[in-house]
Parts: sequence; structure tokens; C-alpha cells
Amino acid sequence: MCGERVKHVAEGVSDRHRLDSPWSINERFDVRNSAPLAIAILALTTACSVRSAAPAIPTPTSDAHAADARETRFVDSVLAVLTLEDKVGQLTMSPAEGLQTGPHRPPGSEAQLRSGQAGSVIGITGVGRTHALQKMVVERSPHRIPVLFSLDVIHGYRTIFPIPLAEAASFDPKLAESDARIAATEAAADGILWTFAPMVDIARDPRWGRIMEGAGEEPYLGMVMAAARVRGFQGRRLNDPASILATAKHYAGYGLSEGGRDYAAAEIGERAFWTTYLAPFRSAIDAGVASIMPAFSAVNGTPPHASVWMLRDVLRVRLGFRGLVVSDWTGVEELVKHGVAGTSGAAAQLAMHAGVDVDMSDGLYADSLPARARDNRQLRDQIDSATVHVLRAKYELGLFSDPYHGASEEGVRRLTRTSAALEAARAGARESIVLLKNDLATLPLSRAMRSLAVIGALAADARSAMGGSSAVGQAKETVSVLEGLRRANPSMRIRYAAGALPEGADTSGLAEAEALVHDADAVVLVLGESSDRTGEAESRASLELPLAQSQLAQRVSRAARGKPVVVVLMNGRPLAIPWIADSIPAIVESWYLGSEHGNALADILFGAYSPSGKLPVTFPRATGQVPLYLGHTNTGRPHDPNDKFTTGYDDLPETPLYPYGFGLSYTTFRYGNVQLSQLVIPAGDSLGVSVPVSNVGARDADEVVQLYLRDDVASVARPVKQLVRFQRVHIRAGATDTVTFRLRPEDLAFYDLRMRRVVEPGAFTLYAGTNSLDTKKAHFVVTGDTLVLEPPTPRMQ
Ligand code: BGC
Repeated sequence: MCGERVKHVAEGVSDRHRLDSPWSINERFDVRNSAPLAIAILALTTACSVRSAAPAIPTPTSDAHAADARETRFVDSVLAVLTLEDKVGQLTMSPAEGLQTGPHRPPGSEAQLRSGQAGSVIGITGVGRTHALQKMVVERSPHRIPVLFSLDVIHGYRTIFPIPLAEAASFDPKLAESDARIAATEAAADGILWTFAPMVDIARDPRWGRIMEGAGEEPYLGMVMAAARVRGFQGRRLNDPASILATAKHYAGYGLSEGGRDYAAAEIGERAFWTTYLAPFRSAIDAGVASIMPAFSAVNGTPPHASVWMLRDVLRVRLGFRGLVVSDWTGVEELVKHGVAGTSGAAAQLAMHAGVDVDMSDGLYADSLPARARDNRQLRDQIDSATVHVLRAKYELGLFSDPYHGASEEGVRRLTRTSAALEAARAGARESIVLLKNDLATLPLSRAMRSLAVIGALAADARSAMGGSSAVGQAKETVSVLEGLRRANPSMRIRYAAGALPEGADTSGLAEAEALVHDADAVVLVLGESSDRTGEAESRASLELPLAQSQLAQRVSRAARGKPVVVVLMNGRPLAIPWIADSIPAIVESWYLGSEHGNALADILFGAYSPSGKLPVTFPRATGQVPLYLGHTNTGRPHDPNDKFTTGYDDLPETPLYPYGFGLSYTTFRYGNVQLSQLVIPAGDSLGVSVPVSNVGARDADEVVQLYLRDDVASVARPVKQLVRFQRVHIRAGATDTVTFRLRPEDLAFYDLRMRRVVEPGAFTLYAGTNSLDTKKAHFVVTGDTLVLEPPTPRMQ
């Protein structure tokens, strides 16, 4: 009887699409409105032994967070009282209505949470809503297991920082860490405890719109930034109220989508996979990242959501990852379209078998796993261990002690968009700006000018300045270029004309722009792409500027007749701008800098700060050159302009428009000779490197000192050059700083023919400089036997 009554109530809440209100009305949610049903369930579950869960879960003691064994005991004790359906509920992430980031999925409902059918939610924001729902869950759901609210917190929550590609241009991991910390603080105050960031995909094809979400093309910078962002989001302890779970995504190889087309398949050689694409994930795991999201593109024929090799053999066994694996949006369901599963039920089973713990948004685990698992011991075990991963994450956040993780209205008021956060956003934005050209010392602009023409629709576009994927950031709280320039120069006559839109061929606004130029002392011309043309599902076949913008540039340049003209680029990917690079005297890459975009840009343009950002990606001369990147493999016929039978194009120079690591300053840095601690080192020893850098210009400034390595002879062809170290230093005018680095054996290692990670004896060259081309070099030799750092990798499948 008792069992029947439970079943009856449970049936009433079992259909997540049919019953109760969808998330969309949660703004009006009031726990009291839902009380009768919840109480009915509570009363029944308390009265019957069938689901007497709430009392059965012990409360952790205060020191439990420190003790792994206690954690295991606690989690096991929770697991023991869960039914198969309860477990699958914990593995289900239901979507909200508003913030859907992929194909639309029916939003979850309060009933789903109240009955324990969803362990996490994506897309609900606002502490009022998260708090009310959490309260309902912990007071009225059968087992009172707190729910996890999640969101893409990519480059800020309410205070918005530069997009990750821009932040990578700062070459400043401390900045990346502190920006992520502020983002986590704001998100956690609002009740969001799980972010799907950092994206650590190495991207070498700017046609791929998601290049803006990562740290660019070089594995070493990717590794450093990945670890910094993980540390920032997660803090020292996950149960700190300012900490949230980070997710390294998209594991692994998504950045190599064919032709730069988002979601297209990727083919990756085994050595490149381990050397380049896996490296930042390893670094994130070493930094303690709590979760990993598989890529939804097929990699070497298998979508990672279905790859036992990738998710178990490599991730769990080889890399030792102990955290949580969360699917990408509809990533499980897409296994059917990939053609590796015949039905959605088979897709769910395949993903669970591969090691995807949480099913984001498509509800397939809930729909199919319980029935399939009933007679399948292996599947039940897999469900158990996936549930353990979820419960451990919740435990480590401290949710079983404080399900709200300190979130409160008061916290939101106190911790959101503080003046310190905005100052950090401005400082970080300044560091991310890259000066690409400055002929005739066009920059900095003089504050004594009487009038300035600001041209280009992007100049007034605060939404673009904020950048895509900006959580709950608001355009109205973002300083556009125009606003920033006006604020910085209240008495200057600053006039604006759009001239041309970022896209299309409408040239009707060019005459107005020209008239403004005639009337001004100098021109700031803002060109590029709007931020909603970058990011997910925003691939481009052409990196050149659309017609109207390129005509605008030409007309403005002609009308200026020698007046200072500065092109400011706003973009989330390298653009091919050869005409501008030739014809405009000053070019500033400003990317999308977030809340303080305009203020930071004004700081640079009017000389309050010297630019110091460096390109984390190579800029091509034309789209046809891509992929074009620093770390390409040696060829037997390197480019030689005097020899036809060497690599290169007939119709373009071999070089990029701007090389990796490029960025100018308002001062001049001179590099001295590279000094090494030893010229000969036994394999396994570390090597000290130092380089004196003098600021021979007139102003104090930051410089990013870069160190590149080339393995001159090895048993496999190696990259022409790879970044191995960098350091941002502040050097006073007239001073010399000696910058030191220490290289470890890992920095010299590679995967040999047997796919062992080794250091081989032989000759190496180091290059130190202000970018990857303009360098001083030094040579050293490694002696002794080959040193094996890691055994052969598990054979690729
Ligand atoms: C993206 C992920 C993101 C997820 C949730 C997907 O479309 O690929 O990076 O975390 O949506 O928003």
C-alpha cells in the first residue's frame, strides 16, 4: 500500500515535459506555491521505508572536507540510499528556457527538481531564483541532495573581462587567474557553482569562430592560461564561498574542426594529439580542474562522447583525472546523427559506457538508462561511478553543509561590479591591447588636439565591446570606444559617424564619414567584426574585411591627407588586413575587452599606458594562407625565395602579416645576448637561461619577454619553433632587467616513434625576443642516453 502511494505520487511528477511550470516562469517561483505536492512527497517518503532518504543521509562533520576517506564514506552512504532513478536524476542536467546555447530543448521544471529527477541545471541566474529552487530541493526533494546551478562563465559574470583570446594576449597568467577569481566570486554570490570554462582548445584556424574562447595556437601559452583560469575559478578550496567548479573543454581536438567549420570532424595525428591538443587539458588536470567536457565533433572517427579510449583509457587511466565528465549541449543525442548509435537510447548507453557522467540538456539518460540498466550489471556499475563523481563534486563544494554556498542577495550587492572589479577589468583590458603598427609615432595621440573623428559602427557598439558569451554582463554597463574616448577627453570635440556597418556592402554612409575627417585633427577608425559574429557556430570562409568596411578604410585614409589616422580593430579572431597594414600609419588590436573596453583603449590611445599585449595567434595576409601558425613541423624544403622547389605560395609571401608573439610598445626594448647556465647538459638536467632586456626609450613600460625552442635534430620531425617560456616585466626607461628562466626536462621532451615521452640527446637552439621572429639565439647540447619520461601512450582508437 505504502509503495503504491509512493508510485502514484511519483507518477504525478515523472514527466518532465508535461507537468508543472517550465523554468521560464521561475522568476515568479515561490516555494509556498509548490508546497502541497512537495509536502505530500515528503510525508510519504518519511512514512515509508521505500524512500526514507532524507533521514538516511548523514550530515558531514566540519573536518570532513579535508579527508578523502571521509568523503568516500559519505558519498558511498548517500549512494547506498539512492534508487536507479535517483542516480540517473543526479546525472541529468536540465536546461532553462532563456539561456539555451544550442538546439532548443524543452526546459526543465520545478517538479523535476522537487522529485530529484535533475541533479543540475544550466541557465538559471539570479540569486532569488537559485536560492528559492535550492531551498525547495533541500527541504522537499526525496533525498534533499542539493542541486548544482551551472552556466558558461567565460570571461566574467557581471563584470566582464577581455575575451579569453584577448586575455591570452596579455601573456599574464596572474591576470587570467584574478579575472577568473572575480568572475567566480560574482557567479557564486548569485548561486552559480559550475562554469563550463576554461575552453582550452588549441586553435590554429581563425575561420573557426571559437578561437576567441581560447588562448590561441601555442600549447605552452594554452597550458599556462588553462591552469591559471582553473586556479582562479576554483580557488584554494572548492568550499570557499567564492569558488566554483571549472570545466576544461572541449576534450580534445575540437579546435581542429575541418576547414574551421564549427562542429565538423577533426583528424589529428597521434603525435600532434598528445603534443599539442592534449597538453592544456593535462595542465588543467594538474591544476585540479573539477570537470571535463568532451568535444562534440568526431575526432579521428569517434565522437569523444562515445570514446572509451579518450574518456577512460586516456583521461582516467593515463591522466589520472578523478573529477566529473559533463556532456556538451545535446552531445549525447548527437551520437545518433554522428551515426555511431542507432537510437537515442543506444546513444545514452554508449555515452555512459564511454564515461560521460552528466547528460547536459537532452534528457536521454533519464529517458533510457534506468530501463536499460535493470538487467545490465555493467551499466549499473557505470551509473554508480558517474553518480559518485557528481556527489563528490557537490560534497567538495560543501553543499551538504551549506547548499547555498554562501549565496545571498546581500552578497550579490556587496560582491558584484565592485570598483575593484572594474579597475581590474580596465587594467586587464589595457594589458590585452596589441599595438600592431605605429609609423611616424602616430600614437599616442595628443590630448591637446581640438577635434577627433571617431568612425565605424563598432565604435558605438557597446555589446560588441563586451564580447560574446558574456554571462549576465550588460551592454548598458559596458564602455564603448566612443564613450571611453569622450570620457577621457571631456573638452575635445569628438564627433562620430558609423560610415559602414561591420557587414555587407552598403556604402551610403561613407560620404558622412569623409566629411567628419575633413573637419578633424585626427581620426580613430574602428573596424572589424561584431562580437555576435564570433564564438560558437560563427565560422567564416573569409577573414578579409567586408566590402563596405574596406571601402570606408580607403576613403577615410584618402580624406585624411596626412592627418593622424589610427585603425582600432575589434574582433575575436585574426583578420587578413593587408591593405590597412600597408596604408594606415597606426593599428591597434583591441579585440573585445569587456566592461571597460572604451576606458582601457583611451588609456592606450592617449598614452596614459604603453601597449604591451602580444599576439597569441598568427595573423595571415589572406585567408588562403590558413592554417598558418608558428609551431608547424619542419619540412625538408623550407621556403627559399630563390628556389622554386620549396614550400610556399606562388601568389603570396611565405611570412604572416604579423607573427606569433608580435606587439609593439611606445618605448624601445633592446635585447642582449642570451646566456645559458651550461652549454652541455645531461638529459634530465634543467637549464638556466637569462637575457638582459634594456628599455632604451623614454618611458617606463611592460614588455613580454619570450623564449622559443627548436630541437635541431631528433628522431621525429619537430616544430620549427615552440614557445617554452615567457615573462611580463616592467622596465623603467633607461634601465636594464635581466630576465631569467629555467627549462626542465619536460620542456625538451617529445613523443618518439614508440610514442614514449622522451628527452633525446642532441643539439637545441633557444631564441629570446620581443616576438617569435625578432630574436637572439643560443645553442646547447643534451648528452647521455635517451631519457624516457613516460611510457608509450595508450594506442589511439
Ligand atoms: C558549447 C559549450 C557550452 C555549452 C553550454 C555548447 O553549445 O559547445 O562550450 O558549455 O553549449 O552552454
